[in-house]
Amino acid sequence: MSGIDDLPPLRDVIARYDLAAKKSLGQNFLLDLNLTAKIARLAGDLTGADVLEIGPGPGGLTRGLLAEGARHVLAIEKDPRCQPALEEIARAYPGRLTVLIGDALDLDPLAYLTPPIKVAANLPYNVGTELLVRWLTPPEWPPFWGSLTLMFQREVAQRIVAQPGGKAYGRLALLAQWRTDPRIVLELPPEAFSPPPKVNSAVVHLTALAAPRYPANAATLNKVVAAAFNQRRKMLRSALKPLHPEIEDYLTAVGIKPTERAEQIGLEAFCALARALDA
Ligand code: SAM
Repeated sequence: MSGIDDLPPLRDVIARYDLAAKKSLGQNFLLDLNLTAKIARLAGDLTGADVLEIGPGPGGLTRGLLAEGARHVLAIEKDPRCQPALEEIARAYPGRLTVLIGDALDLDPLAYLTPPIKVAANLPYNVGTELLVRWLTPPEWPPFWGSLTLMFQREVAQRIVAQPGGKAYGRLALLAQWRTDPRIVLELPPEAFSPPPKVNSAVVHLTALAAPRYPANAATLNKVVAAAFNQRRKMLRSALKPLHPEIEDYLTAVGIKPTERAEQIGLEAFCALARALDA
């Protein structure tokens, strides 16, 4: 018995199914079910919602999500060793957990989910960042999800909520703040995980806005901010030159000084530039 459900403690699950953490899959597991239930609560009211969980591992967060009342959880895990442990959870919550074994970067979860949908995940940071950018840049808005509750390295979490002028400010901040309200809702030390990672972690909660803060085409805005921050120490007229030979005229037309650097420019001006380039 574990405190939040009738299943065995996660240490026993890991021992029984021989789930020694693999570095290649970025496996740092959360073993404290009170903590995973707390993270599940940070995703908001789960009753009446489907939850997409990426990277469930031995199922700590999955159990938190189910214990907190999620209507249905779709869990996508790359490591097939985790399947028996996850199936044991599915048996304890009949009809409420679907497990897919595969790479979340390749699988389309939508056929398995019914709105309203929330996303929750504790993922290796490179996969997490790649998925976050995909979830933030669909051509149409609002997206399939209402909120994202994601664990990142603290430094990545700070990049998501960063404001202009600082080192952390860049593409992630702009894409996240364009279409969502992102907040850091929990910070965790390395000891919260097994094995402990080298860095601190943080949970970011992003609520989808009904409409983007400023109009722009997602692909164009993504291209503009990627180019602008790819060469963040350069003046914008040189960093953005590959996008258009007369980029200096476009910058001036939307009120951006061509000699400025990307980290000085706010979201509204980047959206105006994206619109001008598309006009
Ligand atoms: N959610 C569990 C927890 O909190 O204890 C595990 C977290 S561990 C940091 C990340 C999990 O993501 C691992 O189980 C790993 O196998 C899985 N994973 C890594 N890359 C993945 C991918 N591309 N698609 C799906 N799962 C992935």
